[in-house]
This record gives sequence, C-alpha cells and structure tokens, in this order.
Amino acid sequence: MTDKLNLLAALRQIVGDAHVLTEGDLTAYEQDWRRRERGRALAVVRPASTEQVAAVVKACAAHRTAIVPQGGNTGLVVGSIPDGTGTQVLLSLTRMNAIRAFDKDNLTFTVEAGCILQTLQEAAEREGYLFPLSLAAEGSCTIGGNLGTNAGGTQVVRYGNTRELCLGLEVVNAQGEVWNGLKGLRKDNTGYDLRNLMIGSEGTLGIITAATMKLYPLPASQLTAWAAVPSMEAAVELLGQAHRYLGAGLTGFEVMNRFALTLVHKHMPQLRVPFIDNEDYPYAVVLENSDSESEEHARARFEALMEAAFEQGCVMDAVVAENLSQAHNLWHIRESVPLAQAEEGLNIKHDISVPISRIPAFVEHAEALLAQEIPGMRLVNFGHLGDGNLHFNVQAPEGADGPTFLREREYQVNHLVYDAVAEFGGSISAEHGIGALKAETLPQYQSPVALAMMHAIKQALDPQGILNPQCMLRRAAPAA
Ligand code: FAD
Repeated sequence: MTDKLNLLAALRQIVGDAHVLTEGDLTAYEQDWRRRERGRALAVVRPASTEQVAAVVKACAAHRTAIVPQGGNTGLVVGSIPDGTGTQVLLSLTRMNAIRAFDKDNLTFTVEAGCILQTLQEAAEREGYLFPLSLAAEGSCTIGGNLGTNAGGTQVVRYGNTRELCLGLEVVNAQGEVWNGLKGLRKDNTGYDLRNLMIGSEGTLGIITAATMKLYPLPASQLTAWAAVPSMEAAVELLGQAHRYLGAGLTGFEVMNRFALTLVHKHMPQLRVPFIDNEDYPYAVVLENSDSESEEHARARFEALMEAAFEQGCVMDAVVAENLSQAHNLWHIRESVPLAQAEEGLNIKHDISVPISRIPAFVEHAEALLAQEIPGMRLVNFGHLGDGNLHFNVQAPEGADGPTFLREREYQVNHLVYDAVAEFGGSISAEHGIGALKAETLPQYQSPVALAMMHAIKQALDPQGILNPQCMLRRAAPAA
C-alpha cells in the first residue's frame, strides 16, 4: 500500500496532480473500442514531454509496476487498456501531440506520438503534400498507435504499411532511457534496425514518443470506381488487370461481399449502395487511381481497364465517380461496413491475410466449413484485397442472441478460420496486431523458432516485463 502511494506521489511530481487520474469516470481509457473488455488502472498518467515519459518509466521500473501505453484507444485487439487488477499504470500519450518539424527537402514531418493521424494528414496537405496513411479511425487514432500496431489501412497497395512511412523514431525504453533515432534517413545500415523492431511491437518493447514520417506529392488527379463482380476469382483477376493498366497509380483495392453491403443498405439507408437491387453479384470492389497525370489521362486509362475487365467477364457492372463527392460516397460505403456490422449485433472478427493468389480458394474452403459447422451463420467478408487482407467476420444467425453466440461459438469459429488460414499459408493478424485478444492464440499459429526469438528480444529489452505485459507475448507478472 505504501509502495503504491509512493509511486503515485512520484508520478504526481513528474506530470503534475492534474495529469494523474485515479478517480472519476475513466471508461474512455479503461475500456477497449469494441467494448469487449474493461480494465482497471492504478492511475491514468498523462505526460507532456519525452522527459516526463522517461521519468514515469523510471519510477514505474523502480516500483516494478507495469505500464500500458495508449494513444487514441481505437485498437481492435484489446492491446491498449490495463488488465483488471488495478495495479498497472495507463500511460496516455495524447497530450504529446505537437508537430515538431517540417523538412521540405527531406519530405518529412516529425511529430509527437500523440498527434492524431488526421492532424498530420491535414498539416501535410496545407504544405502541398500527402501523408498517405488512411483508415476509418483517422480522426481519433494517433501516430504512436499507428506505429505501435504497424497499421495498414486503405492505401497500402501503393504506399505500404505505417512501417514504410516512417524514417525515424524517438523511444523511451523499459529502463527509462531515451533513444533518439529521429535522423530521418532513407539509408542507415548501422547495425540492427531498432526502428523496425519497435514498429508493430504494440508497446511491449518501448514507448514511442516521436516519429519522423515520410511525405509524398499530392496526386494531381484521383479517380474512384465501383465494380460489381461475379466471384472472388473475378475480383482477384480485376486486381491483376488494375496493376497492369494503372501501374503505380493504383492506390486502393477493396472488396466487400454482398451481405456486408446489405447491412450498410439496411442500417445506413441514406448511403446509396450501387447496384444493391441486383441480387446476382456476390462481391463488389472499390478501386482508386491516384496520379500525377491530368484527370483526363487518368480517366482514359481507368476506362480502358474497365472495358477490358468487362470483356473478360470479371466485371458485371461498374460506375466511375464523376466528382470528388461521388468518390467520397463510394469510400464512405466501404468504411461504413464495420459500423453497419456492429449495428446488426455482435460478431466474431478475424483480420487475416493469405497470399492473394490463394484468396479465392481460401474463401471457398473456409465459407463451406463455417456453413457446415455453424448453420445459419452470416459471413461479413470485406477488406483490403489489394494487400491480401480480409476481415472475415462471422455474424450470428438471424435472430440469435449475439452474446450467447459469442460465448458458445467464438473458440470454435476462431479455430476453424485460423486453421484454414494456416493451411493456406496465411497470417492470423494482418494489420490489427495481437494485443491481449490473440495472445493465447499466437503460440498455436506462430513457429516455435520465431516465438523463441520474440521472447528472447522481449527478455533482453524488458527484463522486468513491465511494458504492456498482457499484450502479445504471455508470461507471468513482472519479475520480482
Ligand atoms: P491504441 O489503440 O491506443 O494502441 C494500439 C496499440 O499500440 C496498443 O498495443 C498500445 O499499447 C500501443 N501504443 C499506442 N501508443 C503507443 C506509443 N506511443 N508507443 C508504443 N506503443 C503504443 N487498423 C488498421 O491497421 N487498418 C485499418 O483499416 C483500421 N481501421 C479501423 C477502423 C475503425 C473504425 C477502428 C475503430 C479501428 C481501425 N483500425 C485499423 C485499428 C486502429 O485504428 C489502429 O490499430 C490504430 O493504428 C491504433 O491507433 P491508436 O492511437 O488508437 O492506438
């Protein structure tokens, strides 16, 4: 008890009384975005600088107290909330939201970890550049969280995951020391790549306090199309054609099954889903081309693509947005799928990837198995087909009670889907990470050699096990 009070007093001294929260409604910090889990923190600590983060970590290390870093708390795998013991410090980085520097010639912005993604996108645009990371949570997720999870989003096909957009990091390690790796170099082979080790480590190896992120030229033109396709094979065929016809111009390629679209149509009737009355098409694709060429040139190439796709039978019907507002509407439909699905009720989510060439066979196999084992289940299958990443979600049968369905079927459904993913050479986490949600599942689908190396890295960098201990790699509570 005295130890706990001493730690709280030390934390108050570091960040100020107002930024050590122990009372009042802490739901926003303690509950995960999907409201699956609710933890309880010893305190929510809100530092304002890297020095304060370092001092907080030192104090926690001295008291062998676990720390859970949190940005926007929009993560989908329960990685950013404390466990239920009331003994962990929740370190919220949201006060550290400054843009530190803009380097026009190096094409970089250096920002603090708590900077909201949308703030960075807008700052880049004001300077005439593009920061291409884009996802539906961009109004509330932070760069630190994007890096912590190596977030993907809708433009990976052209610009890569967050990892590819980062040229440098500033990190506080588990001992409370600051590593300044913000040089912003495009080439740097001086030993192990610590930046890439930290990215995607979900707050288990260090706390990211700032990052240098890459900018790109703003495209001169952007075109979006919607295509109804006769099968998943056809969608993959269309993707191949899109690569051939659009080259580097292809920036987004998303797929949605018909059931996902009927949910958007049902729960968001204000959105006009193209061809929704045509019951013959099982999938729709939204694709985007961004170019440095004029819109006229880009449109001609886009239309040539669609003509070829029609001729080959991989597109049944298509519409190319005439203007930005129509394009936004098409993307809005795609981005509304998770919300429409939530409106329909609880579901069992999977964020998987499979080599693109094997996706049609995987979907056929896994869907047939699910239909056989879970009669009446409804599959919400959508995602970033251009990256081989599907959100392969299983909704309870119509009229079934969501919580009961989850309680009784989640384990079975997960194993069925993940076994199929393994059989097809895929990954059980494409872009959301492992968090606490999949920490028990990871060892069943990751190679023992890879797991042993991961544990060795964790042990070397965080020997007390104080950084996000329930996340990703399971081990006992912090070492005494
Ligand atoms: P948090 O949720 O706060 O944290 C996520 C993880 O990162 C936790 O493990 C946390 O401990 C760690 N972390 C946070 N900050 C730091 C830091 N400074 N240093 C070290 N570790 C840290 N994800 C995608 O990849 N692609 C998508 O298309 C996508 N779409 C989404 C759509 C919606 C509607 C929602 C709600 C989420 C979506 N996500 C998506 C998931 C989520 O938005 C991303 O994972 C995002 O990158 C998390 O950022 P955050 O700031 O909210 O991080």
